[in-house]
Amino acid sequence: MSKNYEKWKTLEGGSQVYLNKYSGEWFVSSQMTEALFDRLRYGIATEDINELSPIEASNLAKLIEAGIVDIGSNNNDRKPSVERGQVTLVIIEALNYCNLACTYCFEDVPTKGRKMTFETADTIVASIEKLNLAKNFVMEFNGGESFSNIKTLCHIISKVESSKIKANHNVSYGVTSNLTYLNEQIINLLKKYNFSVSVSLDGEKFDHDKNRIFSTGKGSHEKVMNNIKILNENRINFSTVSVISEPGQLTRSYNFLKSIKIPYVSFAIRRHSDRKPLEDVDYSFIANELFEAFQDSFLHFQKKEFSPKLLDAVILIKNLISPFDPQYMCLRTPCGAGTNMITYDTGGDIYICQDLIKEPQFKVCNASEPEPQDLIDNNDIVRKLRSRKPGGNIGCEECDFQMFCQGGCYSTSYYASNKDVSASFAKKTPHCEFYYQSFSTMLGYVASGPSGLAEYINSTPYIGD
Ligand code: SF4
Ligand code: SF4
Repeated sequence: MSKNYEKWKTLEGGSQVYLNKYSGEWFVSSQMTEALFDRLRYGIATEDINELSPIEASNLAKLIEAGIVDIGSNNNDRKPSVERGQVTLVIIEALNYCNLACTYCFEDVPTKGRKMTFETADTIVASIEKLNLAKNFVMEFNGGESFSNIKTLCHIISKVESSKIKANHNVSYGVTSNLTYLNEQIINLLKKYNFSVSVSLDGEKFDHDKNRIFSTGKGSHEKVMNNIKILNENRINFSTVSVISEPGQLTRSYNFLKSIKIPYVSFAIRRHSDRKPLEDVDYSFIANELFEAFQDSFLHFQKKEFSPKLLDAVILIKNLISPFDPQYMCLRTPCGAGTNMITYDTGGDIYICQDLIKEPQFKVCNASEPEPQDLIDNNDIVRKLRSRKPGGNIGCEECDFQMFCQGGCYSTSYYASNKDVSASFAKKTPHCEFYYQSFSTMLGYVASGPSGLAEYINSTPYIGD
């Protein structure tokens, strides 16, 4: 057993949580066996095992089974999934025009206002064929307001459907929309290809209309709410993403989304944008709001009542359960940029992440290059990103939660370094307080073993009548 295990917390009822902060492994045990753990840290000789009490012997067997205690030199070799090294998300910005002028938008890109031509779209589809695609991958349309360029979306999809991408992979389509614009053609497209739709909705009118405005300054909440009704009438599944700008908003948003029966919700803490740099807000307060919303959601789930499923809480819990193979590409190090996520801009240029699309140093090449994957793999910045490790940021080295938080989003660190690439690789995220508070609350809760948690993670929300 590794010497790095430390007693992290005593739970109500006296059980102890032991945590190895460098590997992210943890377990819960009663105080009775503390003496055994102290011995295991330094190794027990085989002949001494017979001296263990029956309780200690039974605990030792459980620890061996869980892979926490190694027998001899038989190290527990956990390998990440194959998809970790493959492209699982292709983002296409078919348009860089948006009918809104959100105050915090980060899309001040060189192609602003441009629409993708069909010729560029064809080049992009041919380029995607040459990427190291995972068997199952998502093609997401994003950027400006994608629904304003539905013709190009339809064109790209028809090309993909008849390409060898479709023959060799399971591709699913996704779109992020401000949902201020919806018509029959869009509805038919969403239905036909079973799109996963993410609607930008910052909660109730008061919060949403502060930032999500038309160029006239008018808020867009009313239009979005009308179009949500149309999505529901057409039985189109969707989730919402709410950008959280200030303490108090998450709770208000969650309660509002629950009142209008949105099944899946997520909250994105506002990131840097040139239009509106980050303000100093109380991130640990926001983390507590997320935890309270999760508890409400989980409680209703246990009672088989409706409540929105909190996708962010699911990601945090999955990182606690499986720190050696975090599934969500934006809460792991190395993150998905340039490995799992590839973004094509309106002109067909390839960037390593959509958050970095306006930054020239993160452009790898154009879709017209014959071997895009080679250029991505040999790109200096991509190679440096792939060599990053959890706990590697300055100030994270001794953090208890380094293997769960994994350092947060790289692009947030880049902008926090004033766009100094070399400093960005080790810059602690400005969202640290949020992660620290979230994991310290969530680990204690998960360790207490609430019943039904595994079912909640895999559940479909109970909608009822
Ligand atoms: S960002 Fe904060 S919470 Fe995350 S590993 Fe670093 S110190 Fe810990
Ligand atoms: S840079 Fe941030 S948004 Fe982009 S893949 Fe990495 S973690 Fe995700």
